[in-house]
Amino acid sequence: MTVKVRFAPSPTGRIHVGNVRIALMNWLYAKQQGGTFVLRIDDTDLERSTKAHEDAIRVDLEWLGLGWDESFNQSARFDSYEAAKDRLIETGFLYPCYETEDELDRKRKIQRAQGKPPVYDRAALELTDAQKAAHEAEGRKPHWRFKLSGGRIEWTDLVRGESHIETSSVSDPILIREDGSYLYTLPSVVDDIEAGITDVIRGEDHVTNSAAQIEIFEALAGKGASPRLGHFPLLVGADGEKLSKRIGGLSVEALRDEEGFEPMAILSLLAKIGTSDPVEPRLTLAELVAELDLDKVSRTPARFDFEELKRLNARILHATEYAAVADRLDGAGEAFWTAIRPNIERLKDVAEWRRLIDGPVMPVIEDADYAAKAAELLPEGALDETSWGAWTNALKEATGRKGRELFMPLRQALTGQPRGPEMHVLLPLIPRETVLKRLQGETV
Ligand code: GLU
Repeated sequence: MTVKVRFAPSPTGRIHVGNVRIALMNWLYAKQQGGTFVLRIDDTDLERSTKAHEDAIRVDLEWLGLGWDESFNQSARFDSYEAAKDRLIETGFLYPCYETEDELDRKRKIQRAQGKPPVYDRAALELTDAQKAAHEAEGRKPHWRFKLSGGRIEWTDLVRGESHIETSSVSDPILIREDGSYLYTLPSVVDDIEAGITDVIRGEDHVTNSAAQIEIFEALAGKGASPRLGHFPLLVGADGEKLSKRIGGLSVEALRDEEGFEPMAILSLLAKIGTSDPVEPRLTLAELVAELDLDKVSRTPARFDFEELKRLNARILHATEYAAVADRLDGAGEAFWTAIRPNIERLKDVAEWRRLIDGPVMPVIEDADYAAKAAELLPEGALDETSWGAWTNALKEATGRKGRELFMPLRQALTGQPRGPEMHVLLPLIPRETVLKRLQGETV
């Protein structure tokens, strides 16, 4: 059977590194297996879902290079969910419950006090038709629960290996709320069945859902109808802390627009953290497809380290050919790129190099005599990577200065600031005329 997977974000916010890791794993898996990658927009929550967030998700995925073969919205599929609901009611899997939140709370408290797990007691299954009618007459609306088998559910997880859940320790899940709205559980299964999804790859936070969902798959589509399941351990920060607190800063939007990271830096990192493979810069998704191996995924949380992302981004840029970035360099040429490439961490650093080269730079000159001496001793002819060394050596001999005293006035004159790029790289990129003018204190 041809593999078909889906990434199913809810358009209630921006996608962040945690979502991207799941999208990436699905995408890589689909490509590796010659399968199909579906983008499903989980927008059944009509109040919290927005078109703007949906559009942003699409932009983010395309920017990352994770395009989809098919896409659909859950909000367009309520008829299918209604049909599934009716079928589950007919077959006795879905039953109406009338307890209020308070009543359920009270039940759980009593169970806990008795040392029992707070599992729903299925009192609603005992309701007679007359009792149900009485509740309805009072104006109560039912919520609907799925009747679990009470048995042991087993599956071979693509990531976790042999897995099982005793459904007797889980409450019958509510699939439909009092107001008729669907929780995520049922629509997801209906879609997976109707779209022909073969593999569900998602975060470990869905493991408990999986028990119920396997039984819903079977109730709707027969024994063995569940797709293969794979659950990735969660992503945590470098310190092992949950990422949720700083997740805003880890949205694709922030990493792209504010931080200026390269998509392949983000993907190279997310493909390998939490696996036994080393994290290495990769310039193409094809390499990550070839390297994907779910057997190498560790059972412990994957650590996302922002510092590691920075280092990886630098290494990726250092290996990026001019042609691949030319259209993002604002007209700068290949010689410029080759010279500065080893010295930048993000592509946005290029702007600062450009400014130091093209100006305007307001030179800082404290000792005009020293600057004049420097102008006099500037090596003849075209400046290259060796010029800085030759120049400062000559100045050292002529003035007896060394260290900071020797270098800093030159940096201050040529860049107007005490810190910045390596001078031996920068010097040959600045036109000779400009160097001489800056040494005279002219803003150019
Ligand atoms: N919308 C769900 C989520 O974002 C999808 C989970 C799933 O992949 O089944 O958690």
